[in-house]
Amino acid sequence: MGLRFIIFLAAIWIVLLIIRFYLGRAPKKKQHTQRGTNIDTVRCQQCGLVIPEKEAIQRDNHFFCSKEHAND
Ligand SMILES: [Zn+2]
Repeated sequence: MGLRFIIFLAAIWIVLLIIRFYLGRAPKKKQHTQRGTNIDTVRCQQCGLVIPEKEAIQRDNHFFCSKEHAND
């Protein structure tokens, strides 16, 4: 019984370590991950169209959907 009990405790301990490892990692993914679901969007100042920030044209701290609207 003694050895099995120790192995049993060791197995639980390892599982707890793995769980803590994953829980510790989870909140840290605040950086820019290349996920399609988490795109920053902005609104065109001219027509109100919502577009991804990286596709928007920025001018004077305003965003526009196209060069035509940025130049208006
Ligand atoms: Zn526009």
